[in-house]
Amino acid sequence: MSKFKLKLSFLIVSITIIVVLVTSSVSIWSSYRNFNEILKVNKTDMQETYVMEVLAITQDYLQGSEKEEIELYMDQIFDTLLEEKEVSFSLFFKKTIVPIILVIAIMLGLVIWLTLKITQPLKNLSKKMELGEEINENDDITAWYYEAKLLKNYVQNMMICSQSKIAELTEQLNLDSLTGIPNRRRMDQTLHELIVNKVPHAIILIDLDDFKSINDTYGHTVGDEVLKAFANNMQSIVDEQGLCFRYGGEEFMVILPSRNIDDAIQLAEKLRIKQAIQETACGRPVTMSAGITAFTPNIQSPNQLIEIADHALYKAKQSGRNCLCVVRNMRQMIIK
Ligand code: GH3
Ligand code: MG
Ligand code: MG
Repeated sequence: MSKFKLKLSFLIVSITIIVVLVTSSVSIWSSYRNFNEILKVNKTDMQETYVMEVLAITQDYLQGSEKEEIELYMDQIFDTLLEEKEVSFSLFFKKTIVPIILVIAIMLGLVIWLTLKITQPLKNLSKKMELGEEINENDDITAWYYEAKLLKNYVQNMMICSQSKIAELTEQLNLDSLTGIPNRRRMDQTLHELIVNKVPHAIILIDLDDFKSINDTYGHTVGDEVLKAFANNMQSIVDEQGLCFRYGGEEFMVILPSRNIDDAIQLAEKLRIKQAIQETACGRPVTMSAGITAFTPNIQSPNQLIEIADHALYKAKQSGRNCLCVVRNMRQMIIK
């Protein structure tokens, strides 16, 4: 419905103009008729008075039949004068209606031109908003009057605000609220992109050892601090070589794009050693175990790759924790 609002107002304005034109034409026509009517009455009165005056002057000099002849002759003269004195419609049209029509047409043209000029920026603005296009300072929306300029700036600011809000929310959607590092959602996207594009990469699936006992002994809050500190450590060691994610709970993932499995082993070992000696919020080190594997062309989905790493992690836990397990292929599993 809102789409038709502008067109509807045009329709209302046009109907109003037509109604005004019709009523003014009718009133002009009736004025013309009245004017001629008055003219006729005046002339008839004038004729009668004149005939009577002439007859009064001439009756002493004229005989019966001559008198009648004169009366007839004078009637004829006055009829002719009456005809001539009546304003013809064509003359009336030329002298009165044509100038009025011209003025109305010019005014109508001006009103239409001005209306289009006023509505144009709003039309362009709504079109851009409908298409979801960005509104820039230098675009073709010519907001030549103050209100349209204000509206354009307001919409522009609203769009910038909502875009940055959307970007912020999207970013938050992909971040883990506790540690601030990317979450599993982002991890799945990253792995999916690498696998679809067949980019070689290695992954390290990490699980903190006996974490339940940390919570049970020192409390959940301390456990949270241990998780945050681990995420920081992991990021500083991985640095630019790869990407860190919180997989869930006390489990983390490192993805190393364009790196081989040996790079992953080296990095995971560095992190494991650091964790094994570094004090944490609970006053003692919290060790980690990891399952390591790498992408091979037969891998079709992130889940397939994660399953292999998870299997390796399970083997590392079985081997006594605080160690790494590497799967180069499913037949060859190495514990480090
Ligand atoms: P394992 O060495 O076999 O991994 O033993 P574990 O105790 O680490 O493993 P388990 O799966 O039994 O326990 C994981 C614990 O991690 C249980 C859960 O309360 C804790 N945990 C998961 N998420 C959080 C979290 O966000 N904060 C805290 N403080 N603890 C968490
Ligand atoms: Mg676990
Ligand atoms: Mg654990």
